[in-house]
Amino acid sequence: MEATITKICTKCAKEKSLNEFNKGNGTYGFKYDCKQCQSIYNKETRERDRERKNEYKRSWRKKNREKENKALKIWRENNPEKAKAIRKRSKDKASMELKPHIVKDIICSSLRIVYRNTNLSNELIEAKRQNVFFKREIKKQKQLQTI
Ligand SMILES: [Zn+2]
Repeated sequence: MEATITKICTKCAKEKSLNEFNKGNGTYGFKYDCKQCQSIYNKETRERDRERKNEYKRSWRKKNREKENKALKIWRENNPEKAKAIRKRSKDKASMELKPHIVKDIICSSLRIVYRNTNLSNELIEAKRQNVFFKREIKKQKQLQTI
């Protein structure tokens, strides 16, 4: 029977057989710390790296958002008409899609009530949405008939 050569891990200080070590530059041509300690170490390193990367991405985004906003602000100041047109277009798009907040806006203005203090049920918003769609559809039909 072959005698098992053992090695003491420099990390966990446990005596382990050689097959529990990866090949490396240490004694008998194996690493100083065992596979188990290495995998723990690798995992920690990976997590630390990931955190560092996320942190970097976050700060990059933040820095560039500020830069972008500033550039956008300057552009808007220099191109007020274009900026207005873009704002109007995106508002029109939102109103075409009838997002809940748009519908709520329509209800509030028709009832002359303050938007932010109003608690409208989803059913009411949905009913109004259908109503607005219906009106738009009628309008479209009328336009088609007059052409
Ligand atoms: Zn170990």
